[in-house]
Amino acid sequence: MAEWDIKNLEEKYRDLWPASFEADPDGKEKFYINVAFPYPSGAMHVGHGRTYMVPDVIARFWRMQGKNVLFPMGFHVTGTPVIGISRRIAKGDEGTIRLYRDLYRVPQDVLDRFDDPMTIVSYFAGEYERLMRRAGLSIDWRRRFITVDPQYSKYIEWQYHHLHEGEHVVRGVHPVKYCPSCENPVGDHDLLEGDKAEIMKFTLVVFDWQGAKIPCATLRPETIYGVTNLWANPGLTYVRAKVDGEDWVLSREAAYKLEMQDHTVEITGEVEGSEIVGSKASHPLCGEVPVLPAEFVDPDMGSGLVMSVPAHAPFDYVALRDLQKDGRYEEIAPVAIIRTEGYGEFPAKDAVEKAGIQDQNDPRMDDVTREVYGAELLRGRLLDNCGGVSGKPVKEGRDTIAALMIEEYGSKEMFDFDTRTVICRCGGRVYVKILHDQWFLQYSDPVWKEQVHGQIDRMSIVPAETRAEFDRTVDWLKDWACTRRVGLGTKLPWDPAWIVEPLSDSTLYMLFYTIAHHIKKIEPEKLTPDVFEYIVFGTGNPTTVPRETLDAIRQEYLYWYPYDYRFSAKDLISNHLTFQLFHHLAVLPEDKQPKGMVIFGMGLLNGAKMSSSKGNVVLLEDALNEFGSDTVRMFLIGSAEPWQDFDWRNELVIGAKKQIERFWNEVSEGLAVEENDGRDIDGWLISRLQHRIESATAAMLNFQTRQALQEAFFGIEADLKWYRRRLPTIAPGSAAVRELCSVWVRLLAPIVPYTCEELWHMMGNEGSVSFAPWPVADEAKIDMAVELAEEVLARTVEDIESIVKLIQMEPKAINLYVAPAWKRQIFEMVASAEDRTAAVRLVMAEEDLKARGKAAVNAVRQITKFIHRLPPQFVSGLVSGDVDEKAVFAASRDFLEREFGVRVNILDAEESQEAKADAALPFKPAIVIE
Ligand SMILES: [Zn+2]
Repeated sequence: MAEWDIKNLEEKYRDLWPASFEADPDGKEKFYINVAFPYPSGAMHVGHGRTYMVPDVIARFWRMQGKNVLFPMGFHVTGTPVIGISRRIAKGDEGTIRLYRDLYRVPQDVLDRFDDPMTIVSYFAGEYERLMRRAGLSIDWRRRFITVDPQYSKYIEWQYHHLHEGEHVVRGVHPVKYCPSCENPVGDHDLLEGDKAEIMKFTLVVFDWQGAKIPCATLRPETIYGVTNLWANPGLTYVRAKVDGEDWVLSREAAYKLEMQDHTVEITGEVEGSEIVGSKASHPLCGEVPVLPAEFVDPDMGSGLVMSVPAHAPFDYVALRDLQKDGRYEEIAPVAIIRTEGYGEFPAKDAVEKAGIQDQNDPRMDDVTREVYGAELLRGRLLDNCGGVSGKPVKEGRDTIAALMIEEYGSKEMFDFDTRTVICRCGGRVYVKILHDQWFLQYSDPVWKEQVHGQIDRMSIVPAETRAEFDRTVDWLKDWACTRRVGLGTKLPWDPAWIVEPLSDSTLYMLFYTIAHHIKKIEPEKLTPDVFEYIVFGTGNPTTVPRETLDAIRQEYLYWYPYDYRFSAKDLISNHLTFQLFHHLAVLPEDKQPKGMVIFGMGLLNGAKMSSSKGNVVLLEDALNEFGSDTVRMFLIGSAEPWQDFDWRNELVIGAKKQIERFWNEVSEGLAVEENDGRDIDGWLISRLQHRIESATAAMLNFQTRQALQEAFFGIEADLKWYRRRLPTIAPGSAAVRELCSVWVRLLAPIVPYTCEELWHMMGNEGSVSFAPWPVADEAKIDMAVELAEEVLARTVEDIESIVKLIQMEPKAINLYVAPAWKRQIFEMVASAEDRTAAVRLVMAEEDLKARGKAAVNAVRQITKFIHRLPPQFVSGLVSGDVDEKAVFAASRDFLEREFGVRVNILDAEESQEAKADAALPFKPAIVIE
């Protein structure tokens, strides 16, 4: 018997396979799956590996189901990240060089050329493909493209032409995340830090101060009526600036932020915070208030000056309380302006005291603040000291005062993030900037949103609970800045100063896969929009490409599209996965809309989040070298269902390797040995196998790849182990074992393809196991009576084993006392009773049982308890089946004697003098060891 040698198998099949996975339209039903394509700017780690291996398992399963399966792959290279990397390497940035040279092990001669971003992209795209091939992914590589291929750009031009015509791309004035050092708007993918940051809109409430103005940023302008003072940081140097022609005093940071937001800002001088503290400021809606010192005031939050509302803002309340503890500013008292059910006069005071907060540095301050703000917004009403908004709900008053502030009291809007630091991949700080000539995808359009909601309802989404997350994303999405000034990508066809940004040029590429291999052969300048118009809609009269060519391409698109399932990790729900639904609806007709999505969990390494930038990764190549492709696949599939997070641990991966070795040995031994047919237990093995087929198939159909593996590997292995134990001699081979092996190899082929391919050929089969028919359970081979009998026997063996262990003496003989018929009658009555608590009454209604008196009552009690411990299916099988318990034990007496090495006697409990024989229950004989 040959040893399992995965390296050898990889080499043998790796290059043989790919041609067979090139899928062309044929008479068969199609199944089209695709995965979010990678951005190849660094080496693949095992987390990436799983992202592509799970879909590969599904692709292989459906191929064996007889479907014509398309599984393509491309590479996403648009945008600025790779430009940033090349710049950092060109500048000699040590951290970046270390990452690429030491972690990703890029050869020095290649690294030397990394100052050109295209070198980085093509090097890693090549590396990705090489590893994907080695990992056995059944990809049609003819369709591979990268998103800066000129033909792909032509396709994007066509897509944006449609979006523009449909008024889904519009010019707008919007605040966006912006990196001044890149001079570019930035998307979540461009960020090193703060990728979940949201842009918030503040009102700058402007106070008069010594002939100038002091702006205070707030999300709650209505609280102006409760302002008792301002806060300034005495340790800061503020600036005087002409903001839109007015004299303002504010922090330097705030002045810079306002400049990015459409205000003219000219700094004219400086003012020490200590000069502001102790002075007075005034606003028409709250009168004159003092400016108090506060170290907590951050120049990077708002304007660096804060209006204080101690009745309703926990921070203000605690800061004032701290000062007053020292006997200062005792004349200041909170002014209540909002009444909220569940709170007293001063909600901030209540919440702070309830939480037992000692000072401003208490980490719970943010929670307490959120709680008070939330409650007041939800249930609060403004009191009658609030001018024109007295008596109004807080929400309504807030909107009214915000508008009034801007119209009458010189307020301005200011945008900032809800998170402090947002950092670009270039290392620079990201700000909120208002852009004017920027193009936006109008995801805020309510009509478009409605269409997407409808599509989400119609799609198959796995797991089901992510559906709500998609709906939430659709509701929350705002207009999306879809163009950039710099970066790799496609120029906006009608405004070529702009480039389509990466999340916006990867929304319809699943369609491009269906035609990519044909399109690549056409010169880009011939790919005018009317060419794609003809391919996709069959309309128009393009003249640049021969009509037969276009018809053939169109047929291919029509055959494959729409896609059946798209796979991606859950962090893409909030952008890419939802965006692509918008784009499909805007461009394609109803019958070409996506049919399904499977959402993955994330990868952990020894319990911590995998992250390339932090170095906490295992590279896929290292894993493949150390364990082999099938082991990596088996581990990744077996460790979690696709939507669960998985955790890579080397010591567990070794376990997967041993499992494959056992599988290999079992199958090759089973084949090697001469046939030895016709044993009773054969029927049991084949019957069990039908259930394994059913369960594994059902799991695969539901994308439960882990469950499928449990059934197909561990389930069958356990059955085989019992089967071998039941045989009188060590003789691994038989017709039944051969039949099982043929099924077993096919059930595991999607998960460990290299190993199964080799075994399949060793069995003498022609053709690749990748295209062998998936096993189908044969009802005729299921023999429930045999399975039940075997389960009764197996449970009895377990019982004997535990008793032998317990008594700790060398047994001389084992006596099994089989329960009498009347107990069997009770078993059946109890098992079938609708209300088992009433079983005693039922039994006592039977005259002959009633005559047994206390013995019958005891038997009901014991049998009821026993039944509760058994799997319900087993119980119902025993009731409806015809298991002759005594015959089962008699037939397996040889086996039992072999197992325990002593004589085994099968006796009737009722005919015995042995006291313990009384304990016999149906299907659970009393066991007495001599
Ligand atoms: Zn930047």
